[in-house]
Amino acid sequence: MTADRNVVSRLTAGYVIALTLIALLSGGVHLLLDNVITEQRDAATIINIAGRQRMLSQRIALLGTDLRQGDETARQPLLDAITLMRRSQDALVQGNDLGISNPLSARARAHYFDGPAPLDINVRTFLGEAERFAINRDELAYQRFHTAARTTLLPALDQAVSIFEAEANGRTRWLQQAQQVVLAILLTTLLAEAVFIFRPMVTRIRLYAGRLFDLATRDGLTGLPNRRYLMDNGEAALIQARRDGTDLSCLLVDLDHFKAINDKHGHATGDAVLVRFSELVQATLRQGDLIGRTGGEEFAILLPGAGEAGALLVAEKLRAMLEADRREGVPAFTASIGATTLCPDDRGLADLMSRADAALYVAKGLGRNRVRFEAARPPEPRGAVSVA
Ligand code: GH3
Ligand code: MG
Ligand code: MG
Repeated sequence: MTADRNVVSRLTAGYVIALTLIALLSGGVHLLLDNVITEQRDAATIINIAGRQRMLSQRIALLGTDLRQGDETARQPLLDAITLMRRSQDALVQGNDLGISNPLSARARAHYFDGPAPLDINVRTFLGEAERFAINRDELAYQRFHTAARTTLLPALDQAVSIFEAEANGRTRWLQQAQQVVLAILLTTLLAEAVFIFRPMVTRIRLYAGRLFDLATRDGLTGLPNRRYLMDNGEAALIQARRDGTDLSCLLVDLDHFKAINDKHGHATGDAVLVRFSELVQATLRQGDLIGRTGGEEFAILLPGAGEAGALLVAEKLRAMLEADRREGVPAFTASIGATTLCPDDRGLADLMSRADAALYVAKGLGRNRVRFEAARPPEPRGAVSVA
């Protein structure tokens, strides 16, 4: 019992730990996905702004040309484009603006700030010269920024976009792999839980349910069904016999002078007789026959399909078998048997059994170790005066 309780405690603890693990992993997956969504949004914003820098550089070059050719309406849009490109540049390299929160990665930082032609300096020089031209109409400045827009700046801005895209792809791949690892751990945990927790748990529950069922329906000494089980199933057998129009017989068996056996040989020997009786009676019965221990040394047997002749045959066979049985450690014993068959007037199992009991009473009275059959009384003729 203590061992059972230990197993149950262990299984419960394992179950709780496994559930906690699954909850933690699920939380982890949620955080990971949350992270993926945020990362993707940030990456999309950065790629978008970096791509717009290319577009702005070309727009500035075109508006500059328009202004140089005398189109004064190009000035304000040119200044606006310069302002936007500068602000975007600040946001890209410093973060904290235009929806960009992360600072530059080492690789992007190198592209913007290191090497012989750092992009950040190129962009700012380009913007400075464009501004100088827009405000002062400085021709040299125009030549410089216009040339830069068509030659060095565009590929460098292109490369910045490529760097941001490659970084976003790398991060996505990493997150996908992490997701797969977490999924594998989750499934392994579930599988382990099924194999090591649920399966033993279900086996235990089935075992205990079986034990409980046996405790509720079987007699502890002989292992035979108890009275309640017999009555429940007997009632069903009676209904079935009525529906099929087949016979159903009942035998009540009571061991003879059982008290004397106890008195003479002791209670343990009495128990051995009861166990021996149960072995013999089970060997006599056919499949479908029902037996139950209805009292101390009393047993009821229901024989579906058996009429009077069949019931008498089984009863006599059993009686003779008990009488003839000799077994080491078990004193000789006999039984009296009352038998009867279901008749249309019987209201239920109780009527059938009480008639068998009456037959048993007669068998006892006639000297025991015998079978007595009691047929149903024919209905009294109409108008007959019953005598008390
Ligand atoms: P009869 O021939 O008239 O049936 O007499 P009997 O002695 O068999 O009947 P009685 O009802 O006088 O005694 C039955 C005895 O069965 C009394 C009781 O102590 C004994 N008994 C009941 N249950 C058990 C049991 O589980 N084990 C043992 N050893 N004895 C039991
Ligand atoms: Mg008795
Ligand atoms: Mg008895």
